[in-house]
Amino acid sequence: MKQRLLFLGPPGAGKGTQAAQLAASHGLLHLSTGDLLRAEVAAGSALGQEAEAVMARGELVSDQLVLAIVRSRLLSHQGGWLLDGFPRNLAQAEALDQLLDELEQRIELVVLMQLDDELLLQRLLGRGRQDDTEAVIRHRLEVYRQQTAPLIAHYRQQQLLQSVEAAGGIAEITGRIEALLA
Ligand code: AMP
Repeated sequence: MKQRLLFLGPPGAGKGTQAAQLAASHGLLHLSTGDLLRAEVAAGSALGQEAEAVMARGELVSDQLVLAIVRSRLLSHQGGWLLDGFPRNLAQAEALDQLLDELEQRIELVVLMQLDDELLLQRLLGRGRQDDTEAVIRHRLEVYRQQTAPLIAHYRQQQLLQSVEAAGGIAEITGRIEALLA
């Protein structure tokens, strides 16, 4: 069973939902940089204050800040993990490769969740999160296309990438991902 996983895909594809579920059922650490950043914002920490406006605009928080979060979590954790929402650009992916070398760990599978733009927009508008207004959503999709989508080629080249159709019911999609973990 694969234990070091990375979830890739546009905002609204359902990464967070699937990642939380799979991490719970397989005893993996669910490391969502979006969730961690929102917790920092809610706590009003210095880090949260730095991230808040950037997140509200749908842009990416600085690599340095996000890397510090991921680094401390992975260093203090034994066992499997599931990265959700990180890396978000090539610089983060390269920093992650380096960190994992240091830890003598490897990504075992990258799951790419794919969904039509129309469905993404519907899901995001229905979610009602603070950064889910239509203008911000469109911007986040654009940021995904420009900065995050190049990671598909990066991980395909490393022969780690598997795609999953992210339309359908939650359990159905979980089943598709489970099939890749065996
Ligand atoms: P998410 O919950 O993954 O959609 O992330 C929500 C917001 O948090 C994003 O729109 C970014 O502003 C920020 N964020 C989350 N993960 C990262 C990351 N790896 N790098 C930079 N910004 C991030």
